[in-house]
Amino acid sequence: MAHVCRQCGRELHRYQTGNLCHACQEKRLEKMITDDEDLVDAEGYAAMLGLDSAEQLKRIARDDKLAPRIPAIRKWRWRRKDIEAWFKQQQRAGDAFRKTALGIASNLRKCRNDPIICRSLSDKIDNKVYGVEFVLGMTVMGQVEPIELVEVDKTIALKVLEWLPKEDFPELIGIADWADMTYDKINEDLIVRLEAYF
Ligand SMILES: [Zn+2]
Repeated sequence: MAHVCRQCGRELHRYQTGNLCHACQEKRLEKMITDDEDLVDAEGYAAMLGLDSAEQLKRIARDDKLAPRIPAIRKWRWRRKDIEAWFKQQQRAGDAFRKTALGIASNLRKCRNDPIICRSLSDKIDNKVYGVEFVLGMTVMGQVEPIELVEVDKTIALKVLEWLPKEDFPELIGIADWADMTYDKINEDLIVRLEAYF
């Protein structure tokens, strides 16, 4: 079942912390700012994320999915600006994940479908998947020419790979680097799942 925003019903990204979408979290954060509350307690933070209780928030905190608490005071208190900064960072990370996954998907498709690039199904895609190499492929007119791949940040791409749940992506079991994928594992179904994931 899709995980949706409690406030507006929009589908949530998988990496999202809490039960609200970014837009709704942002609205609650803005409200905190206008209320001029500098310190946020666990109840306030939980409310911002659309959680039912501070207990739920504390469970999430164990997985490092929250902004850092105010150090040394041994209390569940955050500075509003730290939550704000963390929130921006989450959004940027989410955007980067999405963009990178789409780039990888595009390169997988292009290389897999190109008869010049994909000569044998047992071959690995290699670093072509990151789109940084000069690669010859076949045009629609049947000519061999350099083809355009999407340049992808490898560090982020490896994080995306780590993040994808292997039960939804069984093709990726045992794969620690996109470059190690062999063409027999790359198919349109996998590519479509990857495009839709983030
Ligand atoms: Zn929402």
